[in-house]
Amino acid sequence: MKIVFLGTGTSVGVPVIGCECRVCRSPDPHNRRLRSSLYVVADGTHIVIDTSLDFREQALTFRVPRVDAVLVTHAHADHIFGLDDVRRYNTIQGTVIPVYASPGTVADLRRIFTYVSADRPEPGVFRPRLDFIEVREPFAVGPVRVEPLPIVHGRVETYGFRLDAGGRTLGYVPDCKQMTDAVVDRFRGVDVMILDGLRHRSHPTHHTLEEAAALLTRIGARHAYLTHICHDLDHDEAQQSLPAGMSVSYDGLTLEW
Ligand SMILES: [Zn+2]
Ligand SMILES: [Zn+2]
Ligand SMILES: [Zn+2]
Repeated sequence: MKIVFLGTGTSVGVPVIGCECRVCRSPDPHNRRLRSSLYVVADGTHIVIDTSLDFREQALTFRVPRVDAVLVTHAHADHIFGLDDVRRYNTIQGTVIPVYASPGTVADLRRIFTYVSADRPEPGVFRPRLDFIEVREPFAVGPVRVEPLPIVHGRVETYGFRLDAGGRTLGYVPDCKQMTDAVVDRFRGVDVMILDGLRHRSHPTHHTLEEAAALLTRIGARHAYLTHICHDLDHDEAQQSLPAGMSVSYDGLTLEW
């Protein structure tokens, strides 16, 4: 399994527009974060988890050659507003691309991207050819088993995903405030677990770095990574504050195992 962190920033990204704080002015490239999403390649199948506002830039910078399926965690703008750019892969591949999400998220996607499923397309307007699929149970994307797991992230219906392929396992939960014991059990012991660690100060819908570290200790993945990070955290300082076995991710970080 190979993964590339396409973006590791919170909803406004880092740097933040109009902010002059030391992280936003930092010359360290690790402190430049596009909006959170993940690219996964497993047994020849290419999956994107969330199509962030920055999806086009991410696909170009990190060279995403193909998208066989999109998984959507939830319908907040930072995770879905790059969805239209997936149409380029319709052209490259000549295929309709499935988009898997919870029933609530699919309803939001249909409402926000009404033109995608419109009965009478306007001539000359090229729209993405997407198949919105509601999922509640584990399903397969080619050789990859995908398990959607309900996550508490404020009022919006939100999933995390567990992926299994060829004996390799991955957990991805970019937006989370609470996780039930049953969901913790499903992630327990995965090879790589990715979880949000927004900042040090408490937030109503996200884990702080400290809350994330405590939950990651319970999950007990072989390697744990923090994502969805805001400008309160300098990359190196945040890294030094974490226990062994936990790392702060950054845009372009690539793992293969
Ligand atoms: Zn988010
Ligand atoms: Zn700032
Ligand atoms: Zn969110």
